[in-house]
Amino acid sequence: MSKIIFGPAGLGGVKEAKINLESYAKHGLKACEISFTYGVYLDKAESIEIGEFAEKLGIYLSIHSPYFINLNSKESDKVKASFDRVLKCCEAGHYLSLAYKGKHKTKIVFHCGFYSSGVGSKKKDYDKELSFQNIKKQILNLMEKIEENEWNVELCPETMGKINVFGSLEEISRLVKETGCSCCIDFAHVLARYGKHEFSLVEKSFPQKHWHCHFSGIVYGDKGEKHHKHTTEEEWKELLHELNKLDKEITIINESPSPFDDSILGLSLA
Ligand SMILES: [Zn+2]
Repeated sequence: MSKIIFGPAGLGGVKEAKINLESYAKHGLKACEISFTYGVYLDKAESIEIGEFAEKLGIYLSIHSPYFINLNSKESDKVKASFDRVLKCCEAGHYLSLAYKGKHKTKIVFHCGFYSSGVGSKKKDYDKELSFQNIKKQILNLMEKIEENEWNVELCPETMGKINVFGSLEEISRLVKETGCSCCIDFAHVLARYGKHEFSLVEKSFPQKHWHCHFSGIVYGDKGEKHHKHTTEEEWKELLHELNKLDKEITIINESPSPFDDSILGLSLA
């Protein structure tokens, strides 16, 4: 049976952060993903303080990098800007992790980007293999920076829900194998992208012991994800039933429009 911890996407602003964390802990939630949707909003001192506070409450913090990230843009300045945004998150993640004294690395979740033939390519159409190689190169460069700075973080490229966006199960698991990075398995995205849960393919793709996951209800069509929605009891039960067949350590971040309530619902069904 897996060991599963739950928590919402969203810490709130600096002023509410501690109150929110206290409330999460009081309800039995042990994880929280800070959404730096529009950029890193915590400075060094705030990150260290919030990290210490979370550690005392037994909450593991992770980070979701800004949405405007494309490590495979055709424009080199966009790749550079994306690279720098992820790097900024890594720095903040390191400060958040200090209180854990090396026992916990902050997971830095990010969307890799879109399929394209990449910077400088004359090809008109995108090439999935080339996209993979471009993104892999950027991840290796990021990992080099992380090592240079001795930041206590792990890069987690996320499985994506739209078919025209880089991040199939195969692509993300191959990135893990070929770079040694970690990953984020978004079960709602998998359902939207493949039109089914693909639990056995997920299990085969990610043999590692610890899984950092996202979950919520999702509305999808032919092209995959449309938008996230409230997580129903049935959806939680289906997922938890599958996860409990495994022997893993799993973190599930809920990304529905009501992530706190939905995390508590998930926890109550576990
Ligand atoms: Zn995401």
